[in-house]
Amino acid sequence: MKYSLNSKKVAEAAHEWLANRGVRLEDIADITHTLQQDYYESLTFEECLASVEQVMSKREVQNAILTGIQLDLLAEEGKLLSPLQEMIEHDEGLYGCDEILALSIVNVYGSIGLTNFGYIDKLKPGIVNMLNDKSGPRKHTFLDDIVGAIAASASSRIAHRKQEEIENKGLVPPAP
Ligand code: MG
Repeated sequence: MKYSLNSKKVAEAAHEWLANRGVRLEDIADITHTLQQDYYESLTFEECLASVEQVMSKREVQNAILTGIQLDLLAEEGKLLSPLQEMIEHDEGLYGCDEILALSIVNVYGSIGLTNFGYIDKLKPGIVNMLNDKSGPRKHTFLDDIVGAIAASASSRIAHRKQEEIENKGLVPPAP
């Protein structure tokens, strides 16, 4: 039989590790709100936070959080083997596995998520910018992308849901 973990345990760990690294779900919801408020005037912060919580409930997302934070921590402690240690420690330009891991989050939510992810990576709003700051002792090579991906996915969920709302109200004909 294949080994499988208690899903509550994984979900709790993902939330806990994120908090221990100084990231609050509210910080992620802030990015989602910034990204989507121009499109949906009535969008509230609470809706964005609820969307972030939904994204966080996915096992794929929890797995990416645990894997990324673990690698960041090992890099901080200098425990990785060379040359991976130097690549992650210094967030080396040609090392792109942090973005690829984050894409496993975005992939769950389709192509709008991908566009938003690229946009956040360029803009580095709020908490993403703080995580990207290389001056402190903490290494967030993986976490900045993961946080961006969660915010992008939460945005994408909102976009899909708002579109459904509009269609259900009969304001525009549904897409063929
Ligand atoms: Mg990164």
